[in-house]
Amino acid sequence: MSPDVVIVGAGITGCASAYALAQLGFKVEVLEKYHPAAMGSGWTLGGVRQSGRDPSELPLATYSVSKWSSLDEELDAETGYLQHGNLRLARTEKERESISALVESQQALGLNLSLLTSSEEIRSIAPQISEKVVTASFCPSDGHADPKAAVAAYQRAAERHGAVFSCGEVVEGLNVEKGKLKSISTSGRTIHSEKCLLACGIGITDLVRPLGIRLPVQTALATVVQTRSAEPALKPVIGVADGGVTLRQERDGRYRLSSGVRPKARGLIEVAGRPTALTSIEDVHQVLKASLEVCPELETVPMESFWGGLIDMTPDGLPFLGEAQGAQGVFIAAGFSGHGFGIAPASAHIMSALIAGQTPELPYETFAPERFQDYAEGKDDSVTATLHG
Ligand SMILES: Cc1cc2nc3c(=O)[nH]c(=O)nc-3n(C[C@H](O)[C@H](O)[C@H](O)COP(=O)(O)OP(=O)(O)OC[C@H]3O[C@@H](n4cnc5c(N)ncnc54)[C@H](O)[C@@H]3O)c2cc1C
Repeated sequence: MSPDVVIVGAGITGCASAYALAQLGFKVEVLEKYHPAAMGSGWTLGGVRQSGRDPSELPLATYSVSKWSSLDEELDAETGYLQHGNLRLARTEKERESISALVESQQALGLNLSLLTSSEEIRSIAPQISEKVVTASFCPSDGHADPKAAVAAYQRAAERHGAVFSCGEVVEGLNVEKGKLKSISTSGRTIHSEKCLLACGIGITDLVRPLGIRLPVQTALATVVQTRSAEPALKPVIGVADGGVTLRQERDGRYRLSSGVRPKARGLIEVAGRPTALTSIEDVHQVLKASLEVCPELETVPMESFWGGLIDMTPDGLPFLGEAQGAQGVFIAAGFSGHGFGIAPASAHIMSALIAGQTPELPYETFAPERFQDYAEGKDDSVTATLHG
């Protein structure tokens, strides 16, 4: 029997949406080229934050944090979620101004974000931070989670509600007739379904371009370094004002350090059947240098691995969430621009409600997929400076 909804991509967006849709009673099939969390949702830092969000994303982040708080019980599995706060540091005078402005603007939006103005205050939350840093914002209700565990938790919960996951299957095309989705072509078969959700990260443009849908998504690169396990010490996620570095200590004691975003990817290859984003010595050096500047104690922690992570950047740094204009039944959740992990519960809520023909309880109009129909590609190669972590 054909599924009611086909989801393309088993990252956190696809898995959370599969769970939400299956809960609503839809027969869901998720198609994944590799395996769950093979791309963005595995490469990620795993920060779950409201602070530093664009005002239009803040309601989604706040909704998501309320969901993350009880997600382990809801999904009956460990997501590794820890609500230990987010500390965003100012390293220069210019950054001090931008952190102060951030605190003021986000407090005005109702977020519990405070301005710390001494090293003592900062080090009382994270003793590892360099004494040179004397200004920071702190949001106690932010946190982080274990990316692979969270994706697996959503997948298993979706499966318990009847969702089917087909991994190793590439979606090659969407067949739209007279403005309506009729079927989905994969590497092995044609699936007849009138609804699909494209939650395929950087794979989005290849699938929508043949339909005449223009989604300007640039593939950007961030570089991640992971250390070996160290004594658990650092609780909050650490970021900096310009997003140039983000780091956190994972549940098992390993540190995950992530660089800022460079506008152009260095390439994507397959290694042992896994998608592998190329990075460089320069990028690894940059993330280590920036991490040690704010957290000098990391100097002696043994390094374990590093990887590149590709980011689906949109011109305004905001995602595409909604139904494609002119292709009824084709729903899009992509372009998360380096901060889609934390808001996955909200993205899943919005997309499942839209697919079910209901009104989401969160504002989503700003994220309309058609907002860049007139955008001249190549016009601007820079990426909007967005924060992750
Ligand atoms: C280094 C780094 C740090 C980050 N830090 C944070 C953070 O701290 N907080 C935060 O909120 N966000 C962060 N992000 C962003 C976040 O990880 C992503 O926005 C999020 O994981 C995207 O999830 P997704 O499910 O939409 O896409 P993905 O996880 O990329 O999943 C898409 C899936 O679709 C599959 N696919 C693609 N095309 C096809 C096709 N044609 N057929 C079948 N399958 C296909 C892919 O294989 C992939 O598994 C970070 C990202 C990176 C790279």
